[in-house]
Formats: sequence, structure tokens, C-alpha cells
Amino acid sequence: MIRSAAGLAALICALGWSVSALAAAPVAHAIQVRIEPDMQQLRGRDQISLNTPRAVTLLLSARFRIDSLRVDARSVEVQAKLVDGLQHISLPRARRIDVRWSGKLAPLDSSLDHRDTLTYHEPASGREGTFLPSGSGWYPQVKGSLARYSVALDLPADQRGLVPGRLVEEHLAQGRYRARFEFRHPAEGIALMAGPYRIEERRVRTADGSEVRLRTYFHPEIADLASGYLDSVEGYINLYEREIGPYPFSEFSVVSSPTPTGFGMPTLTYLGIAVLRLPFIRATSLGHEVLHDWWGNGVYPDYARGNWSEGLTTFMADYAYRERKGPQAALAARLAWLSDYAAMPRDQDMPLDHFTARTHGATQIIGYDKSAMLFFMLRDEIGKAAFDRALRAFWRSYRFRIASWGDLRGAFERASGKDLSTFFAQWLQRAGAPDLRIADAKAEPAAGGWRLSVTLDQGAPAYALSVPLAVRTAGGEITRRVELARERGTAVLDLPAKPLAVVLDPELRLWRHLAPSEAPPILRDLMLAERPALIVPTADAAVQEAAHKLASQLLERADTASADASALLVVGLHADIDAWLAREAMAARPEKLAATRGSAQVWTARARDGRVVVLVSARDAQALAALARPLPHYGRESWLAFEGARMIARGTWPTQPQVWKLK
Ligand SMILES: [Zn+2]
Repeated sequence: MIRSAAGLAALICALGWSVSALAAAPVAHAIQVRIEPDMQQLRGRDQISLNTPRAVTLLLSARFRIDSLRVDARSVEVQAKLVDGLQHISLPRARRIDVRWSGKLAPLDSSLDHRDTLTYHEPASGREGTFLPSGSGWYPQVKGSLARYSVALDLPADQRGLVPGRLVEEHLAQGRYRARFEFRHPAEGIALMAGPYRIEERRVRTADGSEVRLRTYFHPEIADLASGYLDSVEGYINLYEREIGPYPFSEFSVVSSPTPTGFGMPTLTYLGIAVLRLPFIRATSLGHEVLHDWWGNGVYPDYARGNWSEGLTTFMADYAYRERKGPQAALAARLAWLSDYAAMPRDQDMPLDHFTARTHGATQIIGYDKSAMLFFMLRDEIGKAAFDRALRAFWRSYRFRIASWGDLRGAFERASGKDLSTFFAQWLQRAGAPDLRIADAKAEPAAGGWRLSVTLDQGAPAYALSVPLAVRTAGGEITRRVELARERGTAVLDLPAKPLAVVLDPELRLWRHLAPSEAPPILRDLMLAERPALIVPTADAAVQEAAHKLASQLLERADTASADASALLVVGLHADIDAWLAREAMAARPEKLAATRGSAQVWTARARDGRVVVLVSARDAQALAALARPLPHYGRESWLAFEGARMIARGTWPTQPQVWKLK
């Protein structure tokens, strides 16, 4: 199940297409496929042409029988080797291959959760939906080759289906629905989707005058959402055409899935019915997926040298939408990235140019969040006008070509006239981040005003940083940037008024390790702690049992001895928690989490010794038990309120910037 917008945005791209070797001569498939979802039957024919004659290996799922195989018009006996559920069929040197195959698809299992769907590679079918993933061997794929294709679909009259690409023709005749699609760019594989869809369509024109067909393929129960989704897709296409350049494809479709899934592919996104019903999907993940038709599906990352497309897409979609809401929302987004990074164990860190695709939490923090922050810092460095110019030029130069981080750097250097080699090298090739601190600050009267010396320390190795400082003076706050290229350096600022305090990077404009006081504690601090301990300040057996169950969901293991624990989980009923806080001389229950709000509240705090404490306070044992399933999904939050298992409010505590008070 999808529980947060951020989680979905990340998962949705996990199986996005990748194009690793566009230089390889592509092959072309001409596929005809007939599917009977009621009986899970598939029958297909594929006429494969190769640019230059060569020996190839075909990959086809073991669930299919090959009915005939002709190589350059000669019949060939099938000799297949079975590896991981795929038949590997080695063929002699040829230019044309003609394969007919048939067999039974797996039954569609709508009880799968999202993670299962991500790893579930079987081609599956049923009345409610058919999903034949790329790589599942539903058609004879040429091993190790990119391919252009056309796919002609043949389905029962009450079903509709599609593959990524341009819809060339469709018609309904003799009780069958038939449609043909073409994809003219080299692709790594083909995914096919079908279901009892209602289609809504809208035609729009791109900035360069060509027509784009926008469609929803929705199950009847969500057909009323179609026009809202079409409005949003049209809005995103207009937005990114203005920012980057004309939309590069002739279609974009939003397709519903009976399983709670989320996939992005060129020209379409495939999302679970329950996901499409979530109100925030149109406002966040959908725009991210549309933007991938420029970054990822339009310009291909050079995977061997790092994937820049997730960071740039996150910056121009998810983050940009926050920025449009205002500076506070944008700051909150940067704080969320840096808080996640602060909670990540340092030994999991890695250089950004090692990121290729999301596989676990740490790769998301680096490949999406740090990468998006790199683009944010770059815009600060060269200014918005040069930044926007660079992206448009990059798009013109690399449309449907592979581009590396180095190619991106070149575009930004040409647009800004600046040498950005140090900037890119330090943020791409190094794991880690600066540990920025104010080491000292002194002020003295000077001619016409005051002179302030600020000594900054960043640890080793040093980064070349332009550090924002806010100086509070008797005449108001003054913001300045100071350059720091060594481990420690002193900057001198001339000010018109007496400085009272210096604040380090108060808007969090740099990717860095937050100081403990700056990072608001979040649940993940407990979940990733080395030696967490559980405290249940009550003898009530039902509460004890629910508390231990909850702890086992949040923590790999928990001690009950708190003396040398690195973080504490304190679980109990409202009165137990209030009494425990008073006994430990900690701040009382936060006002926004009054015991009357929902059936349970969860919040983070720091004990007097600096350890992170997570407090879970419930109305009764039943309310406590209800938290076990949802709570582990909210690692990024500082506080939450629940009604039963339903989250009704959440947030992170504000950051406490590093302030140096002057005498
Ligand atoms: Zn993505």
C-alpha cells in the first residue's frame, strides 16, 4: 500500500526504463498478440528484423510453448536452455526471425502489495486487468539489444489495452477490440497493460505545433476521476514545455491497475486504483512521471557513469511544487531531505555518481534528495536565468541521446560562463558532506560601522562552499554569503550596525550534516539507532503486549535496559506518558498533540542528555495495537496523531539553526 506521496514518487520510478547502450544497433519487433483475459490465454506472433545479420539469443517465459520458429524463412528446431524461468533460445546468424508462441498467463493476484508487484515479474492476466511487464518474457525479447517495435493488440470487445508508444489505429469489429502501437525510439523492453477500461481522450498541441493525445484508461469505478487527471496532465505538459522545450512524444496516458502499483514508462504511467484515488497524486507524483518523458525517457542517463534523471526530475517536479507554495514549504522540503540524511548511518553513504536506480532507503536519500539539492545549489551558484537557459540547451542537444553528468555540467558551464568542475566533482564523486560549524565570531567598531569576523569550520576533506550567514543587528537582519574553501577559515564582514548574533545557513541552502541541535528528531532516528531501548511505564498486561508488538514493528531488537541505550521508545496510556515525562523532567506533551486529539499520539523529543526519545501515547490498549501496522511508514515525521490505524495529522518540528551570540 502507498502511504505517502514521497514514498510513491520513489517507488514509481523503481522499475522505470533504462537505456544502457543506445549505441548498440537496435532490432525491430512487429508483434501481433491476442489475449483472452477470462482464460488467461495469450497467442502471439513476432517478426523480428535485425539491422545487420547476426546470431542472437531470444528470451521467452517458460510458461509459453513455441508453435513455430523460422530464421531467414527456414524452419528451425527450438533448442532452449531454461534460466530463472526464461527460455534462452540461441539462433544462428540471421536477419529475419519469425516466432509464433502461445500459453497460459499467471492469474492476476490483486491481493499483492506494492513491493510484491515490484518484484513480481510474471506476466499476469484476469478480467480485472492484464499486466505483462517488460522483462517477464511475454514476447521473444532479443537478449542484450534495444529494440524499436510495433504491437498489434487483439482483445475481447469489453477490454482495452496499450503499450508505450504512439497509437496508430484502433477499432472495434466482430466482437474484438484491436489497436496498434508504434515506438520508434530504441527501448529496452515492452510492457503491456489491458483491462475493462473506459477511455477518456483529449487532444492538445505541443509548443512546436504537433498533436498530443492525452488519455485515461480507467476502471469504471474511477471513471469520474478522468477529466481531473486529463486537466493535470495537460497542465504539466504546458509547464514543462515552457521550462524545457516541446513535449517529445505523441501521447500521454494514465492507466489504472487493479493492484496497488506504481510504474512510470515513456508516454504513460500505470497506477493502482487506490493510488489514483489519493488526492495528492495528481498534485505530485503525476507531474514527476510526466516530467520523466523529458528527463529519463527523452534524454537517457549514462547509467555507467551515474543517473542524474531522478534528481533533476525531483527538483523540477516534487520540489518545484513545494517552492510554488512559498518559501516555508520549500524550506520544509529541504529540511526533510537533510533530516533524513542526518538519520542515515554514515557507513551507508555513497558518492552520488554511484547511484543508478533506487534499491533501498540510502540510495533514495542520495540519488533523489542529495541529487535534487545539487540542482538547488547549482541554481544558487549560477542564477536562475543561466540555470533555465542551460536546461533548454541541454534538451536541444541531447533529445533521444545518452547524456552523462559531464554533459550536464558542460551545458551549465556554457550557459553561465563559469568553470563548475570543482562544484560537480565535490558533490558527485565524494561520499559524505561538510560538518559546518561556527567556531568563533567577534565584532569591533570600525570606520562608519562595525567589523565582524566569523570563523567557520567544516571538517575534512574541505568543500568549496558559499556559506549563507544571517547577521542580526540593531538595525535588522543582514544576509551575506562568505566563501569557505578550507577546513577552517575566517571571513570579515563590514556592517552598518552593531551585530548581535550570527546564524549559520538558516534557510538550509547547503547539503551538509546538520548539527544535532539543527536536526529535529524524527522517528527514523529511533528506527536506525544502534542500541534502542523500550520503556513501558505501566504494569497493565494488555498495554505491555501492544507496546512490545509495536516495538517489534519499529525496531529490529530492543533492550529494556535504558542506561546505555542510544535512543528510547516510551509507550503507554496518556496518564503513564504524562507521568513519565514529569519524572524525567522533560517537556510536557506538546500542545498540538493534546490527549484529546485522535485515539493516539506519537512524538519525538530529546532527553536532557541529548538522546532521541519517541513517545507513544494512546487512549487504551486497542488504540495502541492499531499503530503497529501504519507507524513504521512514517520515519520522516517528528509527530503524528492517529484515529485507530488512520493517520490524521503529522509534521516535523522546526529546525533550530546554529546561532552564535556576540558579546
Ligand atoms: Zn522518478
